[in-house]
Amino acid sequence: MDWKGLKVLVVGLGKSGLAAIELLVEKGAQPLATDSRPLSQLPGAGLFLEQKQVPFLEQSVAFQSANWIVLSPGVPVDLPEVNQARERGAQILGEVELAGPFLRGPRIGITGSNGKTTTTAWIGHLLRESGVSCQVGGNIGWPLCAMVASSREDQWNVLELSSFQLETIRTFAVDISVTLNITPDHLDRHHSFPAYAAAKRRIVETQNSAGCWAVLNADDPTVREFASYTKARPCWFSLKQPVPFGLWFDGEWIHWVGEEGEVKWMRAEESPLPGLHNLQNLMAAAAATRLAGVSSEAIRQAAKTFPGVEHRMEFVREVAGVRYYNDSKATNVDAAIKAIDSFAGRLWMILGGKDKDSDYRPLRQPLQEKARGVLLIGSAAEKIASQLEGAVPVIRCGTLEEAVRQASRQASSGDIVLLSPACASFDQFQNFEERGKMFKTFVSQIVSGSEASSGLE
Ligand code: ADP
Repeated sequence: MDWKGLKVLVVGLGKSGLAAIELLVEKGAQPLATDSRPLSQLPGAGLFLEQKQVPFLEQSVAFQSANWIVLSPGVPVDLPEVNQARERGAQILGEVELAGPFLRGPRIGITGSNGKTTTTAWIGHLLRESGVSCQVGGNIGWPLCAMVASSREDQWNVLELSSFQLETIRTFAVDISVTLNITPDHLDRHHSFPAYAAAKRRIVETQNSAGCWAVLNADDPTVREFASYTKARPCWFSLKQPVPFGLWFDGEWIHWVGEEGEVKWMRAEESPLPGLHNLQNLMAAAAATRLAGVSSEAIRQAAKTFPGVEHRMEFVREVAGVRYYNDSKATNVDAAIKAIDSFAGRLWMILGGKDKDSDYRPLRQPLQEKARGVLLIGSAAEKIASQLEGAVPVIRCGTLEEAVRQASRQASSGDIVLLSPACASFDQFQNFEERGKMFKTFVSQIVSGSEASSGLE
């Protein structure tokens, strides 16, 4: 694609949009910029556009004559303005599709509802520790357009890809795809579960040669079906059953089934991260890294030293025998269930935040089995309280600070306090990172041995 001289409207001026503008300028295009928010509310964008001499247009006029439109992942593809532009024949592409032809080097793409960042970072760790050069990005760290300049033919690109990034790809393809799981999330944007699954499925649909690999979760019915939508060869992982090719877990050992036969590869207890879901992430990461050419023995050694990612089942500290875990990134119900499943019991669980039209009832049974109490925060508190009624004692705390204070009073030595809120953070925090950092701050402020107080209902 030759962009020279083309007028291209870039919609959405977050990290991805700005990186798209930078790439377009470098390729000789004449970008124009727009956003639903005024420039005054877009930190850093004004100065950037000024430096690049890129005009900013109000959204109401921006689309009128645009023939080429690049959408940031945050922009819904069914905006009325986008639909109208599409109807009159404008070419519309996403930031990932724009970067695709310019990104040098082989690619691993990771998607799923939960576990993307962990698995992406784990693959990066495995490759680096094995002496294979790579750069990690996409939905994590920096956008694809920004990765182009440092890409090289002999360097792997390890790309976390969200449904928002994938729904607009046409020709963009990865050599090795990894699909972890598909559970309901972001239904506010994708409208239905089939539409959400279809957006994620693009990752395998564009893999159109038998030289490609699709690493797929055999235990997830939606992911399993992906195998029939691609020319890529499947490589499976499973927590439940033997697989014809790939990795599976027998309850004690992870087995590796390769061309050379089946071997017991690694014991679960050698994994550095807690929880069965992290064994899934490990199997997926190991499969992708093996397909990238690293030996299974090198992967086993490197897997053990992965430190994990902040805000994902992160051990914070122990105070008076009580262990505190920060899983602020658990912004949906499935992730919170996986967190509960990672522990034997004695949990004090902090739940709540901004509701995403979620059904919290699937939490009832795991909480009944493992939790001593639930501490509720944020605007979703009343909805969660009513859906958990009778299953587990709840304490309404309002704020995270109060929840940590209450937890430290209620918990006794041997208990676990877990922030895994099953909700978005935006009602009380900038984002989940700020929520996790505040949690760690409040934990560090706890005075050990504080007295128990009531409040249970
Ligand atoms: P993503 O990038 O897809 O949001 P993360 O690695 O950031 O995934 O993890 C998000 C949340 O999901 C965390 O709470 C984490 O503990 C949980 N999680 C991680 N891996 C899985 C998995 N394979 N299945 C379900 N939940 C998971």
